[in-house]
Formats: sequence, structure tokens, C-alpha cells
Amino acid sequence: MPAWIPGSYMIRDYARNVVAIRAESDGLDVPLKKLDKSRWRAAPVEKPLTLVAEIYAYDLSVRGAHLDTTHAYFNGPCVFFAVRGQEDRPCEVEIVPPADEAAAEWRVATSMRRKDADPYGFGTFEADDYAELIDHPVEAGHLSIGEFEANGIPHAIAIRGNTRVDMGRLCHDLQTLCERHMALLGVPDGFDRYLFLVHAPGSGYGGLEHRWSSSLVCARDSLPARGDDAVGEAYRTFLGLASHEYFHSWNVKRMKPAAFTPYELSGEAYTGLLWVFEGITSYYDDLALVRSGLITEQSYLELLGRTITRVLRGSGRLRQSVEESSFDAWTKFYKQDANAPNAIVSYYAKGSLVALALDLKLRTETEGRVSLDDVMKACWKRWGGSGEGMPENGFEAVAAEVSGLGLDDFFDASVRGTGELPLEALLHTHGIQYHVRAASGSNDKGGQKLDDSRQRNVWLGATFTATNGKSTFASVMNGGPAELAGIAPGDEPVALDGLQFTSANADSRLKAYRDGDEVELVVFRGDELLTTRIRFAAAPLDTCYLELIDDVELDVESRRMAWLHA
Ligand SMILES: [Zn+2]
Repeated sequence: MPAWIPGSYMIRDYARNVVAIRAESDGLDVPLKKLDKSRWRAAPVEKPLTLVAEIYAYDLSVRGAHLDTTHAYFNGPCVFFAVRGQEDRPCEVEIVPPADEAAAEWRVATSMRRKDADPYGFGTFEADDYAELIDHPVEAGHLSIGEFEANGIPHAIAIRGNTRVDMGRLCHDLQTLCERHMALLGVPDGFDRYLFLVHAPGSGYGGLEHRWSSSLVCARDSLPARGDDAVGEAYRTFLGLASHEYFHSWNVKRMKPAAFTPYELSGEAYTGLLWVFEGITSYYDDLALVRSGLITEQSYLELLGRTITRVLRGSGRLRQSVEESSFDAWTKFYKQDANAPNAIVSYYAKGSLVALALDLKLRTETEGRVSLDDVMKACWKRWGGSGEGMPENGFEAVAAEVSGLGLDDFFDASVRGTGELPLEALLHTHGIQYHVRAASGSNDKGGQKLDDSRQRNVWLGATFTATNGKSTFASVMNGGPAELAGIAPGDEPVALDGLQFTSANADSRLKAYRDGDEVELVVFRGDELLTTRIRFAAAPLDTCYLELIDDVELDVESRRMAWLHA
């Protein structure tokens, strides 16, 4: 059984959920020997071998398998065994409806090819080989289903947990988005269907890409209600997620790093290129929203401002490069602890900013002749259908080749280096003004202009979490006032300056202080009461917002148009 699922770079050891396993052949039991955490060997047999396994399925994530009285959802790596040496053979799967009355109305949504199953019915499905078999998540339950065509190719969306959605509008918007992505890199060979599998609980967010489908989790209220025709923040988040996973149909599911060609699922597969496959995907996910007219330029700039803010707020960007972040995804990005903001950078967020910087640099320095779109097209042509993976230096070599520019210094600094990206200057060449300011409080995600009076004067240099009403310090920033006062992650704030201090009142309490003020801070560390003094420092300018510059020269205006409305 696989130790991990493609798209989620962490060892999960799916075989740990095998509760019972046995084998038989020709009516007789066949001994099984467990070889390691994920492999078994059956004694030799003459006739076909049947393996029967009981698997614990109660992980409600896009990477797991979950079965209860309301639905069944699974990813292939959680439940399907590979037959060593026969991974290339075709596979057939029969999915049988539960006998329970509660399941009588269930429908089955999957991109797996149907052999005898009716559309959305139970029955037999087939896949060309094991790699394809585990690339089709399956959802069975009470589903709201919408169908549409994008460039004539059948697409569907199946939603569990929301029956009040405006399906007509959702399908229309997704069609616009999908056709936008198809226009960039063209329709891949064999891309004859696509399914968005959506789970919409009260809250949640996540996604996982596959070749003919994606699994998405989004808050129920982020889907458009009937009669609602605005693109609010929540729906914009959903569209960005769908856009991200759909773009992966090209970038990582078909064009892949050489390290994933083929996927070696027994252990970690190391590559420094996740910033290309996740970061560039993160760049195009929101860019496609503005290019397709689903959101305004202003709304797009707000999203960009927020991404820049996310990167600025972690000093880990000054210690880890995006190439290192990619390589160490298995043990760092996917296993974040309280120190993560000080130690690591996201290959998603910073990777998307490297993509932005590269795109704007190419456009400026080639006078509009070459953009990141052209680099992606050339990469796709080389690695999209060849079956070969992109070598570690492949992306950089193609970018240099397509543009004719010497890009070594840029990639050394932005991909392998930890300096600040030259975004302010590059955005300015495209008629966008870059600003940074102090945050207004812990809920300020950036992206918007705010009066000075609403920005905070001082900061604590720590974040909070609140669980069941109890506040604790989550991350403590290197060199910040809290760290200098000896505060550690997990400490429970008790009193500041003699008054009760919690995550709920922190923003308003801090308004009373100025740079250099020093007061008493009392915390619990475990059950021990600690008293310290904290000296406030000026709030850092770590919050970015972007503005369109009015009255720009014609060439700047046309550069901006070519970028945002290609
Ligand atoms: Zn992704």
C-alpha cells in the first residue's frame, strides 16, 4: 500500500489503517507474511489469489477515506493494494451499495471510467493501471450534481453538504474558469471528462488535484446561494480553490518533476521544484479569475496584497529559500510547529510571488514579447505529454531559452536565495503602486488600505490560539517583544499591566501602548505562574496593499492590460 498520496507530500502510511487482512485461493486460506509497514507477501498459488482486507476509514480529509451512515468517500491509496510487478495491468473495481436503508438514495460520483455502472450509480468501474486506479477519488452519498461543458468536454460538480446552491450560476462560472485555463495550455490528450468533488461542511478549506478530477473542501456559505449574484470574499475563495486544482490538471498531474516520474509511493520523493508546481499554480489560480472577468482588478490586487502580506509576516523567508522549502516539504512544510514562521517559507505563497516577479520581469525586459505564459507553454510542450519528467534545472533553462534573457542572477536570488523580491519596482512598471503599513490587529490579512489611525502602534511579536475559551501563545516571533520577554509557545496569558489579558482582548489592550513602553506580563507555563516585563516595539510594516496608479503612460497601461487581461 502507498505510504503517501500524490499531491500531498507527507508520509501517511495508509497501511496502518488495515485492521485485518487475509488471502485465499481456490477456496483455501493462503498464508500472508508482512514484510514491512506497507508490504505483504502471499505464499505461491496456482489459481487466482483473493485478498480480503478490513480498513478503518474515518479520516474526513481530501487525502483520506471516510465511511459513516451519511456517505462514503475514499482515495485509492487508502484502500487499494498494488500487486508488485503488475502495476501496469488494467484494474476493475466493483462498488457495491450498502444494504442499509439510509443509503438507498446514494449516488456515486467519481471520474473513474464506468464499465457497467449507470451515471452516478453503483457498479463496475475500470482504470488502465494502478497509477490511474488511485487517481480517482470516489464519493457516494446525497449529492447535488451540476453538469456543464468546457470547450465541448463534459465537466461536472458533485457537492455533498449543500443543496441550496445556485447550481446554474456555479456551473456557468466554472465553465468560464475552465475555458480560461484551457486557453493557456490547450486541452491535454485524453482529457475527456472532469469532475469537481466538493464537500461543503460548516467550515473548512482544502483541495487535492487529480488528472480527471479534484477533491475540494470549502465552507458551505462560500458557495453561491440562489438569488445572490455578487462575488464576495467567500465565493472568491472557493473559485480560487477550484481554479488552483484545475490548473494542476496540467501543472503537476501531467507535467511533473522527474522525481515524480513515476511516483515512488513507498517513501519520500524529493524535488526542489514544488515552487514551480505549487507556486506557479498558486499564481495562475487567482490570475485566471481576473483574466476571465470573474473578479475585478481591484479584487485581484487585494488577493495579491494578501499573499505578499503572508510572506512578509514570517521571518522564515529570510532563512529558507523556496527551493529548500520544496525539498523539505515532507518534514517541514507538512509538519509545521510553533516555530514555523521563524524557520520556513511557503513554496505556495512565496513560489507564487517568484512567479509574479518573473512574469513582470519577462514582460518588462522583453518589451512585452515574452511572458510567463510563453514559458509555461514551452514547458508544457516539452514535458506535458512526453512521459518524461521535468529535470531539476528544467524550468529555469526553458525560461532563459524562451526569453533569451540571462536569468541566473534572478533565480539564484529568488529561488535559492532569501532576499526580498523586487516586487515594488516590477509592479510599478505595470502601473501598480506597492504599499506596506502596520496591521490593524490580529484579523488583518492585508490587501486593503487603512487610515493610520486604525493601524496599531506596537506589537507583541506573538500570535494566539484559543481552544475552548482558553488562550495560549501560538508562535513567538524571533527577536520580537514577547520572545525578548521570555514568552514561549504554549504559555497562557494571564495579565498584562495588572489587567486580565486574553486573545480576545489583546488587540484592544495593545492600543494603549507606544514604542518603548514597558509593563508587567504574567503567564502560566503549564501550572507555574511566571512574571516578566515586556517592552513594546513599534509594529512592523508587514501588511501590504496595492493600488492601480491612475494616469499612467500609454505603454504602462498596455503592459498592465496585457498582464491582467491576456
Ligand atoms: Zn496545489
